[in-house]
Amino acid sequence: MSNRRNFIKKSALGTLGVSSLLGCDELNNANIIKTYPRIISTWNHGLEANQKAWEILKNGKGGLSAVEQGVMVSEADPQIRSVGYGGYPDRDGIVTLDACIMDKNSNCGSVSFLQNIKHPISVARHVMEDTPHVMLSGKGALDFAISKGFKQEDLLTDDSRKDWIKWKENSNYKPVINIENHDTISMLLIDDSGDLYGACTTSGAAWKMHGRVGDSPIIGAGLFLDNEVGAAAATGLGEAIIKTSGSAMVVELMRQGASPLEACKTIVKRISKLHKSGPEWDYLQVGFIALNKNGEYAGYSLRKGFNYSLHDEKNKNLLIDAKHEIG
Ligand code: ASP
Repeated sequence: MSNRRNFIKKSALGTLGVSSLLGCDELNNANIIKTYPRIISTWNHGLEANQKAWEILKNGKGGLSAVEQGVMVSEADPQIRSVGYGGYPDRDGIVTLDACIMDKNSNCGSVSFLQNIKHPISVARHVMEDTPHVMLSGKGALDFAISKGFKQEDLLTDDSRKDWIKWKENSNYKPVINIENHDTISMLLIDDSGDLYGACTTSGAAWKMHGRVGDSPIIGAGLFLDNEVGAAAATGLGEAIIKTSGSAMVVELMRQGASPLEACKTIVKRISKLHKSGPEWDYLQVGFIALNKNGEYAGYSLRKGFNYSLHDEKNKNLLIDAKHEIG
């Protein structure tokens, strides 16, 4: 009870403290309350994930558990073909997962190329909390998960298997924009004290080479935060995001005074310039979300079709079409 009272009190202070200072990059909507706590996540499956994270935060369980349990909703959903259970497999028909998590003290944990574990984000949290390392990969990550009590299960659903068999007819690696090379869930959260947390989890690009790891488990690429500045996360073609250290760069630009929108836009433009003449240009999509220390937020993508989910005191389950560089 006293936790709840503290929460309400802090929220009210937070609102008073920052609402008059903040503008939102993305919405020209004067009715939107600009404050924290606030959660943003990539894509429309972020709506449900945000809802869960919000509940956890409201129950006083803390920002780290909120982002973890929030993205677990997407990991468990077989309809989401890009995250966890039901995610599209690699070209050998094997589902391999990447995830990372980061807290306000820059503690972070990550797993990559993890198989047969439904909730890689929770394994990443264990890596952060129970090991001296940041990242575990492949069999080592699996062995570690099993040692922590995680159960092995088959993550390839019948629907994803069918799509994989169909893809094999031509075996052409040219991801369908916004469908096959997308939909990682990345979540950024600023709590009622103004502290930042982030999580990112994915089954990666559909039909990737066996062993391929994308940006999502790489701190600085798929996710980055600095509690003095802000947080950023990515979705899209991981190779392009890694080549620019995308999320870290977005945060650094915010440190230098850029708004979340300006920061995301600058990095998307940088990626665009680098890849314009490459063979991947036809299927290249990248999107970033960013949240600064004041609770201002934005999303921006290379191509049309990227959206992100917002949840705060005023806006429950709001889906926002991100601005984009090209049509
Ligand atoms: N960024 C992910 C990857 O390249 C793909 C995605 O966003 O779905 O692995």
